Amino acid sequence: MRIIIVGAGLAGLSTAISLANSPTKHDILLLESASALAEIGAGIQLTPVATREFLRWGLGDALLAASALPKSWTLRRGSDGSVLNRVDLSAFKEEYGAPYVVIHRADLHRILHARAVELGVEFGLQSKVVDYGFEEGWLQLENGQRTEADVVIACDGINSSARSLLMRHLGHSDQEWLEATGWAAYRAMAPVNDVKADSSTAEIVREHAGNCWADDQKSLMTYMVQGSRNLNLVFSHRDNVNTSDWTQAELHEEFKRMASDMDPRVRRLVDMVDSPINNWPVFQVKTLPNWVSNSGRFVLIGDAAHAMAFYLSMGVSLAVEDATALASALEQHTSDADSITLSTAVKKFEEARKPRVELIRDASLHAGTMLHLPPGRDRVVRDEAALKDGFIPMVEGGLGSRELLVGPNLGYKATIEVVI
Ligand SMILES: Cc1cc2nc3c(=O)[nH]c(=O)nc-3n(C[C@H](O)[C@H](O)[C@H](O)COP(=O)(O)OP(=O)(O)OC[C@H]3O[C@@H](n4cnc5c(N)ncnc54)[C@H](O)[C@@H]3O)c2cc1C
Repeated sequence: MRIIIVGAGLAGLSTAISLANSPTKHDILLLESASALAEIGAGIQLTPVATREFLRWGLGDALLAASALPKSWTLRRGSDGSVLNRVDLSAFKEEYGAPYVVIHRADLHRILHARAVELGVEFGLQSKVVDYGFEEGWLQLENGQRTEADVVIACDGINSSARSLLMRHLGHSDQEWLEATGWAAYRAMAPVNDVKADSSTAEIVREHAGNCWADDQKSLMTYMVQGSRNLNLVFSHRDNVNTSDWTQAELHEEFKRMASDMDPRVRRLVDMVDSPINNWPVFQVKTLPNWVSNSGRFVLIGDAAHAMAFYLSMGVSLAVEDATALASALEQHTSDADSITLSTAVKKFEEARKPRVELIRDASLHAGTMLHLPPGRDRVVRDEAALKDGFIPMVEGGLGSRELLVGPNLGYKATIEVVI
């Protein structure tokens, strides 16, 4: 089949690789609006759901060379840093067949891109797609050029224009499908050497480990990135201020103010920040009625279909699962086109993926709410559950593999079947 993928982010590249690895050979073109391929941002955590697939694609050596493998994830009380729970991440490899890793986004993007090129995927840069023939299988570029394909897969990210166009095409009211979660996160870095040199913070970087201080309407997560040179700081907070015109000095001031009533170690870490600070409001995609067109010639995946709050670190894992599940659905069609039409195959994909992804989206936001509880009964229940046994299997293989911070009365239970 001729398959066009729109968007060369982590979802688009994973989809290209997954399809190129299929038994049936496809002609794959990946279109990207940017003039150069790159990923911005800092470190990301990858659950075994993603790393298992990357290992299967033969990317193990490259991935592990660029990653850190945190040994544990520690949840701490925001006010004094006392430990509420510690998850042994080093056991994940045994438990889930692949490690939990932290990697810089740009490194992962580079590794996936190189493999896609090796597998013969064709790339078109500066190719912004502005319109789609959802039932007929065509797309139109900004320069007016129209291209046809058997299947078009849009992975154009959280601000997807394909999503709005598909919803309109399918007759769903012209509403806004992206919603603010009410949270935002300041992201910054502190040099690990400075953190090590201070006796009060040295423990944080003695080994590769994630830490999270849960506080009233805010939390700070830290983990090492970039060959252990930097400590990544993600400071979540209520999204109640527009910082778009703030200077770096103002952002640093706000960072310090937020830390001022927290564990002294948090205050020291914040003082050590030497990078620019970025503020990311956290959005999620509402439940879409469909991800696929009626003919099956168009499919929406990745953040475009299901961007979610990052509190379970599942965004990339779900994009990789989408890629694998879609390649498997399309393989079913191509290997037995008489009994499995394209439309049937992609609808099966949608039926298998949507409920799982929506569950994890809700669980991700719920985890954020749990992390940021104000003082009160719910927080007492949460802390008791975390101290005692707050981690019950939920989402296979992620930090979400534990029912993070969920006490008996705040329960969010789910069992999840993977892909089709
Ligand atoms: C603060 C923060 C922290 C996060 N932390 C984690 C984490 O620890 N672990 C994790 O798994 N996930 C994390 N995520 C989520 C993760 O980053 C996303 O789920 C993932 O990157 C989505 O990939 P994507 O390819 O769907 O979208 P994107 O990476 O946004 O890629 C979309 C691509 O499409 C291109 N494009 C857009 N429009 C067009 C067009 N019209 N034509 C052609 N090309 C187009 C864009 O240029 C871009 O290259 C985090 C997200 C945030 C915001």
